[in-house]
Amino acid sequence: MNSWVKQGEFIVDTYRVNQYRDTWIDVDVKAIASNIKAVKTLHHPDVNVMAVVKADGYGHGAVTVARMAIESGATWIGVALLEEAVELREAGIDAPILVLGRINPQDAPVAQHYRVSITVFQSEWLVEASSYLDPEPPLDVHLKCDTGMGRIGLTDEQSLLDITKMLKADKKFEMTGIYTHLATADEWGSDYLTEQLKAFQAYVQLAKETVGNIPHIHYSNSAASLRYPGNDYNMIRFGISMYGLVPAVETATDIPVSLKPAMSLHSRLTHVKKVQPETSISYGATYQASEEEWIGTVPIGYGDGWLRANATNGGEVLVEGERCPIVGRICMDQMMIRLPAEAPLGTKVTLIGKQGNKEISIEEVSERLSTITYEIPCTLNSRIPRIYQ
Ligand SMILES: *Cc1c(COP(=O)(O)O)cnc(C)c1O
Repeated sequence: MNSWVKQGEFIVDTYRVNQYRDTWIDVDVKAIASNIKAVKTLHHPDVNVMAVVKADGYGHGAVTVARMAIESGATWIGVALLEEAVELREAGIDAPILVLGRINPQDAPVAQHYRVSITVFQSEWLVEASSYLDPEPPLDVHLKCDTGMGRIGLTDEQSLLDITKMLKADKKFEMTGIYTHLATADEWGSDYLTEQLKAFQAYVQLAKETVGNIPHIHYSNSAASLRYPGNDYNMIRFGISMYGLVPAVETATDIPVSLKPAMSLHSRLTHVKKVQPETSISYGATYQASEEEWIGTVPIGYGDGWLRANATNGGEVLVEGERCPIVGRICMDQMMIRLPAEAPLGTKVTLIGKQGNKEISIEEVSERLSTITYEIPCTLNSRIPRIYQ
């Protein structure tokens, strides 16, 4: 394990605290608190919020985000992998944690040891896992139904009956939840979603007939919890919008609360020069100055997850409150920008976030890269330190 240092109120993983480079990510933890409070206003007070912190908290830092989320009213934590759950437990996080992916049956005792809830949907899995489990304490499981996502989950009533009967009979398991995942909640048009919900309602009904009361019944991701609040069961799984990002730019107008982005990305000019007309910049000499120009060098590149495609589709950054174009190809560790005028070395460059009244949002970057908001913070890798404030 890594060592941990206390920074402000929050524990920061030291391997990220790179003290020498001039490129960093600010994570505004108050924004995360504000987004959780905002989504809670749309739901009945009894609806639990599961803060989804898979992929290291969508690149924001799972441990810090989980702590903040719990302080702000989330009662569950969602992760994709068993190791992500173990990381949180080792960091002292005590809240219920659900692993949303499938774990290997031979690893079930790890979940049992760390008191982690897991997702089940295959009867062979139950038989095998049961052979590895200790008699006590019962392993907490949520049954996953595939109602149209086509990823994981059982897909017919017979499987549900088989699995729920096995769960009821085997004292090594305790079924405390049932859930499904929506495929189209971030899109216009709700026909597909309605069909998924109908299928889910039927599964829930049938499961209750076998096992009795099921404490945790859930299907909403961020998009559903913001766009279709009110008809949820008793838990939402809140991921992307906890970080202040919209699930889809196309349906952003449909979101009834204001979200505050938590992540911003900054660097500093390491070199500034005036170049003559026709001077070429970067690999392939693809950019040529058309007149005398001021060119700045910024120490970030695709080795940080700042992908080369950021130089295409009019990619810009903010310097002294002005938009400046990225010029030439992005290198592994550095890139160049065109400045409106000479700027001192060390001048702050904002790649994502605000300077003055100008902003470059993750939504803008995601459109530049022809992708979704989710991919941007997840792609910025651990070479960039995360600073929490
Ligand atoms: C990632 C994930 C979520 C969270 O989705 P967002 O769109 O980020 O809110 C919820 N449920 C499951 C099963 C997931 O895998």
